[in-house]
Amino acid sequence: MRRLLLRNLVHGPLTEAAPAADGAALAELASRVNETARRRLGRTLAIREVDAGSCNGCELEIHALGNVLYDLERFGLRFVASPRHADILLVTGPMARHMREALERTYQATPDPKWVVAVGDCARDGGAFAGSPACLDGIAAVVPVDLHIPGCPPAPLALLKGLLALLESVSA
Ligand code: SF4
Repeated sequence: MRRLLLRNLVHGPLTEAAPAADGAALAELASRVNETARRRLGRTLAIREVDAGSCNGCELEIHALGNVLYDLERFGLRFVASPRHADILLVTGPMARHMREALERTYQATPDPKWVVAVGDCARDGGAFAGSPACLDGIAAVVPVDLHIPGCPPAPLALLKGLLALLESVSA
């Protein structure tokens, strides 16, 4: 035990250093998302997140969009508490059966036009949980999906690129 404690004191933690944030790329991407949302929707983008049984890894990346590094609200992107105020549903997880009704009701409560973005590999086909009797192997089993953002989990910049691709595909 003493040897282990001494070794840990000498070597320090084994965690990797965080990757350097590309502030310029982030600012350009976020402002393109904002401009495209204003041009295509006539307003900023409101996003409602729904966890359909995820391990929370995807949520950590989605939450990162609101931290001091990304701070997406400065570009006009907002997470909203109610689907009635949302344009986009960001859905994570393998579509757990117990979340089926909640997702259906959230989808019905979101006004048209609305888009559903499946975030992460689980949301596409169940990912690491595929085949489990507790899930439906992807959210397309319950609601129509407009875009899938791959990754386990997708990084914040990948989320932004996905939102931009979705907005650019929307007819003006
Ligand atoms: S895609 Fe990966 S990080 Fe996201 S919910 Fe599934 S296992 Fe977790």
